[in-house]
Amino acid sequence: MTTRLAHRLDGIPPTIFTTMSALAIRTGAVNLGQGFPDADGPASVLDAARDAIASGANQYAPGNGVAVLRQAIARHQHRHYGLGLDPDSQVVVTTGCTEGIAAALLALVDPGDEVVVLEPYYDSYVAMIQMAGGVRRPVTLRAPDFRLDAEELRAAVGPRTRLVLLNSPHNPTGTVLTRAELQAVADVALEHDLLVVTDEVYEHLTFGDHDHVPLATLPGMFERTLTLSSAGKSYSVTGWKVGWATGPAALVGAVLAASQWLTFTSGAPLQPAVAHGLDAEPEWPRALAASLEKRRDLLCDGLASLGLDVRRPEGTYFALTDISSLGWRDGMEFCLALPERAGVVAIPAQPFHDSAAGDQLVRWAFCKEVDVIEEGLRRLAAADLSR
Ligand code: GLN
Repeated sequence: MTTRLAHRLDGIPPTIFTTMSALAIRTGAVNLGQGFPDADGPASVLDAARDAIASGANQYAPGNGVAVLRQAIARHQHRHYGLGLDPDSQVVVTTGCTEGIAAALLALVDPGDEVVVLEPYYDSYVAMIQMAGGVRRPVTLRAPDFRLDAEELRAAVGPRTRLVLLNSPHNPTGTVLTRAELQAVADVALEHDLLVVTDEVYEHLTFGDHDHVPLATLPGMFERTLTLSSAGKSYSVTGWKVGWATGPAALVGAVLAASQWLTFTSGAPLQPAVAHGLDAEPEWPRALAASLEKRRDLLCDGLASLGLDVRRPEGTYFALTDISSLGWRDGMEFCLALPERAGVVAIPAQPFHDSAAGDQLVRWAFCKEVDVIEEGLRRLAAADLSR
C-alpha cells in the first residue's frame, strides 16, 4: 500500500538537522551542524530532575505547567526585563519552544492568513505556517551584516497579514535585533494591528555589548506580543523540551487551547528541575554565554584562516560563512561533500530560505567543547576545501 501524505505536508522535507546529524554519525564526522551542546547543564538542575523522579513527580503535569515552574518563569521575566506576569493566566509551559511555535500558529493563523517572518527562518516555522494553512512572507536579513531592513518589513505587510513571527537572537545569522530594529517591528505592528510571536530561546546567549531586548518591553507591545522561550539553550538541556509562552492572558490562552491537544502536557519531573534552574542558578546562562563567546572566536578565527568569509555572530550558537571564496556556489553541495572531504558536518543555509540569498551560506555550531571545535578545524585545515 502506498501512503500519500496529506497536502499540508507538501514539499516539506525531513529537517536538515536530522539529515546532517545522521550523516555525521554514519561517517564519524565531527558534528558542527545541529545546535546542541556536548556538555551537560548545571549539576544542581540535573540533580533536581533526579530528585523529582525519586519523589514521585511522574504522572501528568497540569496542562498549563506545574505552578512552581510558571511562578519561576514569571520571576525570570520580571528579574531580567521588568515584565510583571500573572503566573496563572499569563504563563504556559510548552514542550520546548518548538511546540509553543506550533501551538501559537495553529491557534492564531487561519487558512490564507499571511505570516511575516525573517528569512533565513528556522525550519519549523515554514512547516508550521504551512500546516496551519498560512502563507509566509519572508523579510530577508542579507549578507554581510544581516540587519533588518524596516522598508522591506513594511513592504511585506499587507491586508492579509495576521502576525509577525520574529526570532532574536536569530538562528542562523547570529543577529541580535537592536532596539531601533525592534521599534521598526513595533511601529508596523501597531500601525497594522498585528500580533507578534517572538522566539527568544537564545535570550541569554549574547556576546559583547549585544544585549537581548524582548519586543514585549517596547511601549504598546505587551498586549500584542506572545513571547516564547525555553530552558534548552539557557541551561544546556536541549533534550528536555521544556519551553514556555508568556504574554497577555488571551494570547497565552490561545497557545494552551492548541497545545492541550498536541502534547497535552510536558515532562512532569523536568518542570520543577527547570524551576530550580531559573531560581537557584540565575547566573548560569550568562557564564555559558561568556564561555560560548570564546568558542565563537575560536571557530570564527579558524574558519577565517581557511579563507572563508565569516560573519561573527552577536548571539546564538552559530556562525554563518560564505563559501564562494572557496569556489562553491551551492551550500548544500558543499555540506554533502564535507564529511568525505574533511570529516566534518555543517548545515547549509538553503533550507532556511525561499530566496537565493542563502545559496552560498553555511552554518557552523560553536556550542561544542573546545577540543571538538579544534578537532573540526584541524580536519578542515588538512582537507582540500576548494571546489
Ligand atoms: N535548534 C537546533 C539548531 O538550530 C536544532 C533543533 C532541531 O534539530 N530541530 O540546530
